[in-house]
Amino acid sequence: MVQKKNVCVIGAGVSGIAAARTFKRRGHRVTIVERSDGFGGVWEPQRSYPEVQTQSPKSLYRYTDKAMPADYPEWPKGPQVHAYLKSYAEDHGLTSLLRTRTVVRGMEKRQGAPGWTLDIEAPDGTSARENYDFVVIATGQFNERNVPTHPGEAAFVEAGGTVMHSSLYDRADRARGRDVVVLGGSKSATDIAVNAVKSGARSVTMVYREPVWRVPYFIGGLVNFKRILYIRAQEEMFPGWGIGRGAKLAHAIAKPFVWANWRGLEALLKTQQKLKRCKMTPRVPIERSINCSVPIATPGFFDMVASGRIRGIEGTFSRYEPGLVHMTGGEAVPADVVVQATGFKLGVPFLPPHYAEKLVEPDGQYRLHRLIANPNIPDLGFVGFNSSFCTVLCADLAAEWLVRYADGKLVRDTTHEAMTKAIEVSLKWRRTERPAAAVYGGLCVAPYHFKHFDELIGDMGARITRRNPLAEKFLPPDADAYSRFLASTPTYTVT
Ligand SMILES: Cc1cc2nc3c(=O)[nH]c(=O)nc-3n(C[C@H](O)[C@H](O)[C@H](O)COP(=O)(O)OP(=O)(O)OC[C@H]3O[C@@H](n4cnc5c(N)ncnc54)[C@H](O)[C@@H]3O)c2cc1C
Repeated sequence: MVQKKNVCVIGAGVSGIAAARTFKRRGHRVTIVERSDGFGGVWEPQRSYPEVQTQSPKSLYRYTDKAMPADYPEWPKGPQVHAYLKSYAEDHGLTSLLRTRTVVRGMEKRQGAPGWTLDIEAPDGTSARENYDFVVIATGQFNERNVPTHPGEAAFVEAGGTVMHSSLYDRADRARGRDVVVLGGSKSATDIAVNAVKSGARSVTMVYREPVWRVPYFIGGLVNFKRILYIRAQEEMFPGWGIGRGAKLAHAIAKPFVWANWRGLEALLKTQQKLKRCKMTPRVPIERSINCSVPIATPGFFDMVASGRIRGIEGTFSRYEPGLVHMTGGEAVPADVVVQATGFKLGVPFLPPHYAEKLVEPDGQYRLHRLIANPNIPDLGFVGFNSSFCTVLCADLAAEWLVRYADGKLVRDTTHEAMTKAIEVSLKWRRTERPAAAVYGGLCVAPYHFKHFDELIGDMGARITRRNPLAEKFLPPDADAYSRFLASTPTYTVT
């Protein structure tokens, strides 16, 4: 029997919802603290730019116990995702647990008892210290904007120019009739560049460091990418962490075939996306760049580049001048509106430095067992830090793992020593064998979804862990199947 805990979930996005649902369903007392106006995180309407839609197909961007509505498109729009998350939170009775416009400013280990004391700022600006037995950090990887500055920006703005982060590009009319320059090469950069063209911008320029591979929604114009890139057979082409000699040998033998597979995909993408004509052929082999930073190609983007409606410039800004942005290559581009699609800073700013040092290595790599918990930071775990191309499922399974960790109900690798060893194996692999896995502090599961999920459900003691062999090898992850696997884990009660 496990004793009921007082649990604080920080953040009410996809991950906070998963965590609150799971701890509540187990019988714990849950409080959700969220600094914005409601559920949704990055999908909250005021944080979404026009026409935003998921990169993941809807079957992969859902919780294990609720599909997205049947009438949603394959890649739902931002407001649809928001409505799904809100209704999901309502289904699970989470609304009354939510405290909005409330911010966690700091935390410290509770004196004289396990757990943490949180510094919580209420909507009226007053602060209170609250004790919790267990804390779930579900603050996401897209919260602190990364805003670079360049010389001359103040004069540029004073002369009437606008500089904004991509998360503030909320209305298409910001671009109409203007010279728009987008800084960055991520999915949000291409989304905004395309939106600016469609909104009637006078000119649109996208400035990016180097060309990257972008996955089309339909590979070859025909096959939904989930049927190729999200399957175990494809994932197994990437040597993962902690594999034995036999598996290494198998990878060495298969190398020529795997190499040919990737060259074939590259050739297909080069043709489909007119990469040569766009002067956007990546220099890095596709297999080396597959991780959470590989964007899905915004429909229409390459056509607009090929036809000159979007101009691509490789490089970055050197400085501003009224009405102009100067590039590192020496060129000056007319600009009224600059959109900085420069991403977000990763971090947990409210964690005390003593614990932050235990969490993050000097080279920025996170020390998290299964990307969820650190054995040197007790009574605490992370949900949604195992980011991927199917983040909702990742958050769902991480939350299920974490509640069992908190309750002492995992069945494998439960000792401090075993967790530390697993963390070291993963760190070494990221640093030496697969540097692409070190992006975002190493907090990216892609392309190893199946391997990660296998570990999580194995740790939870699931008796059923596979679909039929063909489905398991050649079909994408199936949220309903994971629901069945979870149902086969040992039960316990919390009182
Ligand atoms: C435009 C866009 C499209 C995306 N599309 C996909 C996709 O198709 N597939 C996919 O897998 N992923 C996608 N992602 C990634 C996306 O971030 C995740 O899928 C997921 O929404 C992350 O949820 P989260 O709950 O972990 O974090 P968030 O959604 O960032 O939520 C974290 C919450 O924590 C709150 N918070 C932060 N700090 C504090 C604090 N100190 N006190 C109180 N509250 C705090 C924030 O206000 C926020 O609401 C996309 C991201 C963006 C930006």
